[in-house]
Amino acid sequence: MATIKASADETATARTLVVEVPGWPGHLPGQHADVRLTAEDGYSAQRSYSIASAPEPGRLEFTVQRLDDGEVSPYLAGIAEPGDQFDLRGPIGGWFTWSPASAGQRPLLLLAGGSGVVPLMSMIRAHGAAKSEVPVGLIYSVRSPSDVIYKTELSERSVSSPLTVDYRYTRSARPGTRPGRIDAAAIARLAPPPAARPDIFVCGPSGFVEAATSLLVDAGHAPATIKTERFGPTGT
Ligand SMILES: Cc1cc2nc3c(=O)[nH]c(=O)nc-3n(C[C@H](O)[C@H](O)[C@H](O)COP(=O)(O)OP(=O)(O)OC[C@H]3O[C@@H](n4cnc5c(N)ncnc54)[C@H](O)[C@@H]3O)c2cc1C
Repeated sequence: MATIKASADETATARTLVVEVPGWPGHLPGQHADVRLTAEDGYSAQRSYSIASAPEPGRLEFTVQRLDDGEVSPYLAGIAEPGDQFDLRGPIGGWFTWSPASAGQRPLLLLAGGSGVVPLMSMIRAHGAAKSEVPVGLIYSVRSPSDVIYKTELSERSVSSPLTVDYRYTRSARPGTRPGRIDAAAIARLAPPPAARPDIFVCGPSGFVEAATSLLVDAGHAPATIKTERFGPTGT
């Protein structure tokens, strides 16, 4: 059972929940957990949420993007408050994971679409906690500047660690710039050369994951070096 200890709005529609889970063993960056909500009449709904925090026993953070017509996210990102409890199962997932210890000197390349930044943030935080010198590039595709999750922290980490962030605004860009989706030029600017064998993680809606993966393959990155996770209506 997880107990909400704190919550904070990241954007107008995304909220971070800090939860405590007695006996939680910690996790690997990139893993997720299944949250189950049960109503008084016994009806229950379960959804997966990536873990946003760096590994820590007993405590973890989620960031949930609210979908107004959704069943679970409006509660987690709107109604839930400190003291509330819910069932939690995890950590889950062994493929879409990265840790400073296993990475060696390979650079890290992260591609996020919308709330797909959440598990990648766990990797960035673990990288920071380990004071890793491995270069990290994050290409973050998001509707507009006001939809950027973790904006202040990403900006601070870009100064204090070898992290470079390239934002792609798909709807409204900053004044003087035009909106643009992820493209070959964005990959060329930030991606290490394929010969450097970067560890590559792509996370977001299915369309974003497909587009980003084919751009990476076109740029010469071996499909086996690209790990993907899709946040879609079906979770596939
Ligand atoms: C491994 C994994 C990790 C995930 N991690 C996160 C996370 O860290 N943060 C986060 O906010 N979400 C995450 N998700 C998505 C999350 O599991 C839910 O799908 C999402 O919160 C919507 O649930 P809901 O009950 O509110 O909406 P539902 O009641 O399931 O759906 C409501 C409406 O929204 C559509 N919809 C459902 N899911 C999405 C979606 N992801 N994007 C766009 N439209 C959708 C449905 O087709 C439907 O029309 C993750 C999914 C997976 C599979």
